Amino acid sequence: MRMDKLLANMGYGSRKEVKTLLKQGAITVNGSQVKSPSIHVNEKKDIVQVNGETVEYREFIYLMMHKPPGLVSATEDKRDETVVDILQTEDRIFEPFPVGRLDKDTEGLLLLTNDGTLAHQLLSPKKHVPKLYFARIEGEVTEKTIEQFHQGVTLDDGYMTKPAILQILEAGPVSEIEVTITEGKFHQVKRMFEAVGMEVVYLKRLRMGSLELDEDLELGEYRELSDDELSKLI
Ligand code: URA
Repeated sequence: MRMDKLLANMGYGSRKEVKTLLKQGAITVNGSQVKSPSIHVNEKKDIVQVNGETVEYREFIYLMMHKPPGLVSATEDKRDETVVDILQTEDRIFEPFPVGRLDKDTEGLLLLTNDGTLAHQLLSPKKHVPKLYFARIEGEVTEKTIEQFHQGVTLDDGYMTKPAILQILEAGPVSEIEVTITEGKFHQVKRMFEAVGMEVVYLKRLRMGSLELDEDLELGEYRELSDDELSKLI
């Protein structure tokens, strides 16, 4: 990788600022001073130092966010604030993107990464990665609804959903439920309830595959995945 790209990626400033650092003689590769921004370094083997401090190169970032309502699950948006907008600059330089989408009004677990392979594995329809949601439903969820979800329901576009596991936590005029789905159709949970004549009034994702929302994270907070969480996910 080019020296200026490496240093800019690792947060040492813009390419222009990095060029200045190089000119000032602040950068060494394996102990020798380098001044050219276009020199290529092996980021995994060469020891690059800035003012004597070794640059820890990392390629991937994995963040768990407790998504608050009001943000869109995108990297940029003309109208609305995005989940990437609320990241710290030192995390944003890795150019993470959300793995799958939660609706603007949906809360809960959102993984952000720049690891395209992992994202693909988690999102691939072939992998059937289970996603667990908590929801409040306007309408009484009954055993019949559980059976309907188990059989699959027909969405407004004619698509028949795969079996979903529905659990009633509290039944009433507003019911509380948990539902596990293995697909990721647009507005899927809301449309599944619509298909059985009910409305989702609150939706929160609790789990995606092996990854569980850390309830210590307040809405809008995020943290890096632990090694354990990451190794189970990959
Ligand atoms: N299903 C929905 O309807 N919305 C979400 O945000 C996620 C799943």
